[in-house]
Amino acid sequence: MGRSASSTDASAAGVTTRRLRVLHQELDACRACPEMIGPVVHGPAVASPVLLIGQAPGPREGSFGRPFAWTAGKTMFRWFEEALGVNEERFRERVYMAAVARCFPGKASGGGDRKPDADEIARCRTFLEREAAILRPRLVLAVGTLAIEQVLGEKKPLAESVGRLVHGTYHGVPTDIIALPHPSGASPWHKLEPGKSLLRKALGIVAAHPAIEAAFA
Ligand code: SF4
Repeated sequence: MGRSASSTDASAAGVTTRRLRVLHQELDACRACPEMIGPVVHGPAVASPVLLIGQAPGPREGSFGRPFAWTAGKTMFRWFEEALGVNEERFRERVYMAAVARCFPGKASGGGDRKPDADEIARCRTFLEREAAILRPRLVLAVGTLAIEQVLGEKKPLAESVGRLVHGTYHGVPTDIIALPHPSGASPWHKLEPGKSLLRKALGIVAAHPAIEAAFA
């Protein structure tokens, strides 16, 4: 007798999780960027159809050992709780969370967190390429300007990226892409119009996406 579809799915998820764990061991040992401040931060090895990509951890995330662990995370998880009806814990269990860079870049001279530079982004992209190949996500959530640029492959004002569903590819994987603003308090974009309405629209598109339904089924 053949195996049931659910046992086949469970076995595929097990393989995906094991491959992600191997990749995480390599990530944890990575010291490729001399200016970056460790430790490497990543979410758990979740076999998910949804891949969330942020910019980089802030100064606090390293001590918590997980992405979006401080104030920006509180805002972002509140957005998801209101739009999807899932709390932070469940979101972390069901969505694979990555970032353009996995180490804290330090502070910028003018205040705020330094943006990862082009070399750092290129080095860390090798991990994202492999994660995309392992997960083959059906939905990519790009959070913040840098992640949006990296995922969509072009620079655009937030008002032209947020609030749309893009049918695209990410590292060769056909996928849908939804851009969200960065939840950091450093930018008021998502609190003022048109950002407020565009964010609401984007979260509505996220909530209605079949990959979200699959992730939280
Ligand atoms: S930012 Fe990425 S590539 Fe650079 S040291 Fe950290 S994990 Fe390695």
